[in-house]
Amino acid sequence: MAPSLLPVLNSTTSFWRSSLHEIDDHSSTPDLPSEVDIVIIGAGYAGASTVHHILEICKEQNLPIPSIAILEARQACSGATGRNGGHLKPDPYNRPVTIAGNHGIEAAAECAEFEAQHIPAMKKLIEDEAIDCEFVLTRCMDVLLTDDIYDKMKSGVDFLRKHDISVMKDVWFASGAQAEQISGVKGAKACFSYTAGHLYPYKLITHLLANAVRAGVNLQTHTPVSSVSPTADKDGFFTVSTKTRGSLRAQKVVYATNAYTSALLPEFTSKIVPVRGICSHIAVPATSKKPAPTLQTSYILRWGNYEYEYLIPRLDGSIVVGGGRSRYYHDKASWYDNVNDDKLIEAAKPHFDGYMQRVFHGWEDSGAEATNVWTGIMGYSSDGLPHVGTVPGRQNQFIIAGFTGHGMPQVFLSSKGIAKMVVSGASFKSTGIPRVYQASKARLDSTRNVILEGWEESQKGPPSPKL
Ligand SMILES: Cc1cc2nc3c(=O)[nH]c(=O)nc-3n(C[C@H](O)[C@H](O)[C@H](O)COP(=O)(O)OP(=O)(O)OC[C@H]3O[C@@H](n4cnc5c(N)ncnc54)[C@H](O)[C@@H]3O)c2cc1C
Repeated sequence: MAPSLLPVLNSTTSFWRSSLHEIDDHSSTPDLPSEVDIVIIGAGYAGASTVHHILEICKEQNLPIPSIAILEARQACSGATGRNGGHLKPDPYNRPVTIAGNHGIEAAAECAEFEAQHIPAMKKLIEDEAIDCEFVLTRCMDVLLTDDIYDKMKSGVDFLRKHDISVMKDVWFASGAQAEQISGVKGAKACFSYTAGHLYPYKLITHLLANAVRAGVNLQTHTPVSSVSPTADKDGFFTVSTKTRGSLRAQKVVYATNAYTSALLPEFTSKIVPVRGICSHIAVPATSKKPAPTLQTSYILRWGNYEYEYLIPRLDGSIVVGGGRSRYYHDKASWYDNVNDDKLIEAAKPHFDGYMQRVFHGWEDSGAEATNVWTGIMGYSSDGLPHVGTVPGRQNQFIIAGFTGHGMPQVFLSSKGIAKMVVSGASFKSTGIPRVYQASKARLDSTRNVILEGWEESQKGPPSPKL
């Protein structure tokens, strides 16, 4: 496998990016600064949160603000964060069970609690800063649609309850007719529900970036970085070269580059893999004579181990729906090691037409239709866990990437830890980031690839029914 390509131009327009913030194409100065204390590569959730926390630490500790540049290949928040489902959904049991199997129950509890902490942390951020990003605190209804997936999830939940994992206190369960009635999903076998949130990611991130610019941070969009020197020069500076705008020198480098990390750090080739996903916005036309019921929670609908949809209801009654894997997962090239968010996954596009009518009771005559379908590139980690901390073997270079399609409840507090490491040299251990997230040589040396293991397993069974 070759290192990732850089982000492509002309990406599909997501629902979130249909109306743009003034910072979208921002360049703080006509030329790049020649020298900075810190360069952050990538202006998505990870880059914006890292700069936010660096500024917060300086404020709290009365430290002078370091010189900081953010270099972004395309527009601000145009990567996964500007194209995702907006679902802030800590996972209390599905991921933790896998982590328990691979790393033990303590590591699983640590990850589940870390994710859960994102709800109050994000709520506080949004309230303190009065960020207009349509944040809604809700519950997520996790609906299980086959006996196999029901059995798997239920046994995982029982296992975690047996070990008294704290987040399980918030998980509520129903099965049979009650599950179908409560969830409103046709043929539901069971459902779990737990605390979650949803928001407008582009509004949140552009707010944080605009704040940073006001505080003196130099943001340069449309500036793809092509290389970073692996070692510092005699004065302690790395050379950060861009494709079209020359280079700058920086004492510390943060890679918030998600799927594209291996383009700059080739040692992450096949460790963080670009994986293409697809998402849609579905609405009932104003002319419809049969309005649809309002969804009261966000949703995960699971059809199998690897096939699921996620839904967030919006305040205007429309819904953002992502998933559709049953249509394209078999065709590995259409999603694996694929950076083409300038194209739809053609086989998946029809999935969203009539989706609500097929899946939910009460929507049959609503006329609901997909008003927008777009793609986005996730950074899937080959061991399923993000890489956070010092880049192995590269002092003063830091990574926060590989959130495997599930960054909303992991990035914000990971970036708080990275900011502490960057500003005050904190050890990884002292940051409170789950230990299994730590970037390490051992993880880079591992040959395991759970993304492909899962895909190969899924190909052994009968083809999935097309919803
Ligand atoms: C379709 C889709 C749906 C999703 N739904 C959800 C969801 O509902 N809930 C959830 O928790 N997660 C979801 N995710 C995942 C979530 O969006 C990510 O985990 C999260 O946004 C990652 O943030 P990030 O900042 O690491 O990455 P990104 O937002 O991708 O930011 C990385 C940035 O780095 C820039 N960059 C990369 N390389 C370079 C370079 N060499 N030079 C300069 N700039 C560079 C990119 O252009 C990009 O802007 C979804 C992702 C997709 C694609």
